[in-house]
Amino acid sequence: MNKRFLIVGVLILIFSGIFIFENFKKPEPAETIKTPPVNESVAQASLEYKISIIDNSTGGDITNNTVLMDRINQTPLITELIETSKNGTPMITIGDGSRPRVMIVAGVHGGELPPQIAATKLVNTLNGKKINGTIYIIPFAIPRDTATSTRIHNKTDPNRVANIPGTPVNKIIRTSKNKNVTLLVDCHSTRPHDIPGKNCIIYDPKNPKSLKLALYINNKTKSPVIKVGNYSGVLTTVCNRNNITSVVGEVLSPHGKLQPKSDHLAYQYMIYFLDYAGVYTNDNKKP
Ligand SMILES: [Zn+2]
Repeated sequence: MNKRFLIVGVLILIFSGIFIFENFKKPEPAETIKTPPVNESVAQASLEYKISIIDNSTGGDITNNTVLMDRINQTPLITELIETSKNGTPMITIGDGSRPRVMIVAGVHGGELPPQIAATKLVNTLNGKKINGTIYIIPFAIPRDTATSTRIHNKTDPNRVANIPGTPVNKIIRTSKNKNVTLLVDCHSTRPHDIPGKNCIIYDPKNPKSLKLALYINNKTKSPVIKVGNYSGVLTTVCNRNNITSVVGEVLSPHGKLQPKSDHLAYQYMIYFLDYAGVYTNDNKKP
C-alpha cells in the first residue's frame, strides 16, 4: 500500500516538474519565425500584377507628403497603390508566382523619401514587363509615417523591433517567409553626418551570401559595403538569420527631403538587386 502511494507521489512530482519546466523554460529566440500566415487581403488584381495589404494597422494618406508626391509619376497603377495605402501596408506582386521570389522594401522609415520614390519608379518600369520569377514590392512600408515624413513609429524605431511579432516590419518578414522569398533588399536614406551618413550597401557578416549580394551591387554602383550594426531587431538581420539573404541599400539624403539623384541611386540598387537575382534585367540602368 505504502509502495503504491510512493509511486503515485513520485509520478506527481515528475509531472509537476515537467509542467514547471515547460512553462518557465527560456523563450525561443525572437528571431525565429514560426507565426501563422499574415491575413492578406487582396485589394486590386489584374493579369500583370496584384496589390494586397499585408498590415492593416499602418494606413495613411501619403498624398499629404507633398515632397514625395511632387516626385512621383502618378500612373493609374501608382494611384491604385496610394489609394490602397490608406488602409494599410500595400504590397504589389509582379510575376506569376514562379521562383525565384524576391522582395524589395522601401519606407520602413517614412521620412526617408528617395527609396520610396525609387520604388514607385520601379513599379512603373516593371508593369507589363517579362519577369523571370516573382517580385514583391513594398513601396511604403508604413504609409502613416510616410504621410507625415517621420522615422519613428509608436515611439520606437521600427527597424529595431523587426524581431517582435506584430510590429509592421515583423509582418513584412512573415509575409516574405510565407511567400518563400529567398532574396530581399531594404532601401533607406541616411542624413549627412548621421550613421552611416553616406551611400553604402550594408550586409550581415554572419551570412556570406549577404556579402556576395552587397558586393554585386557595390561593383555596379560604387557604393561601398559596410557591416550591419549589432542589433537583433533590424529587418535584414532577422531575414539573414531566417534563410532570406538580404542587404540594406542606403542613399545620402536629408530626412523629409530629396537630395538630387539620391532617388536614382536607390533605383539602381533595386535594378541591380533584380539583376543579381536573375529576375529582371534591362539595359537602361545608367542615368
Ligand atoms: Zn532608415
